[in-house]
Amino acid sequence: MARYIGPQCRLCRAEKTKLFLKGERCLSGKCPIAKKAAPPGKGPRTRQKKMSDYGLQLREKQKLKRTYGMFEKQFRNTFKKAESLSGKTGENLIILLERRLDNMVYRLRFATSRKQARQLVSHGHVLVNGRKVTIGSYSVRENDVVEIKEQSKKLTVIKDALKEYTKSGVYPWLELNPDEMKGKVIALPKRSDVSDLAEVKEQLIVELYSR
Ligand code: SF4
Repeated sequence: MARYIGPQCRLCRAEKTKLFLKGERCLSGKCPIAKKAAPPGKGPRTRQKKMSDYGLQLREKQKLKRTYGMFEKQFRNTFKKAESLSGKTGENLIILLERRLDNMVYRLRFATSRKQARQLVSHGHVLVNGRKVTIGSYSVRENDVVEIKEQSKKLTVIKDALKEYTKSGVYPWLELNPDEMKGKVIALPKRSDVSDLAEVKEQLIVELYSR
């Protein structure tokens, strides 16, 4: 399957919510969602039809899948893994997504978007416990140390992204030393910790895949 190469903002407009796919720009007044742009293909005065249950479930799944920039097959495989774990499948799904290395690189402020984080990982700029890992879907564990490779510490893109750290800090399950460009997973996240996805109704995704 081909990777989506169209405008990122179009995906947010389709989901009618901010998916934060473009880093800094997403926080600026230039964001089309902040300007209340209409969904793609629809004029501002188009009447919205009431969505079916299936439609609601599908949209919720697309929203989460697009937030983490995944293909359907990868997303479904993560869902299957979430099902096999004890506890609530929907919560397990979000925790597994949060544990992805590309997401961790983004959460540690080494990149301004998950897309940029994935690129840093695949280009070999990231070490986990001192070893280079180039797979974005690599699942981090408690006490793992995620850091930028010594030779890559001079990259402007990482330095600029880290400036964001001073504004908003990192999530409580992470620890970051911005000067050393080194972070640690001090605990695995809980669903309630992922506050920026608080509005996602993961139960709808469970219902969709149970059809
Ligand atoms: Fe575009 Fe970011 Fe706004 Fe989404 S959140 S519409 S990617 S600027």
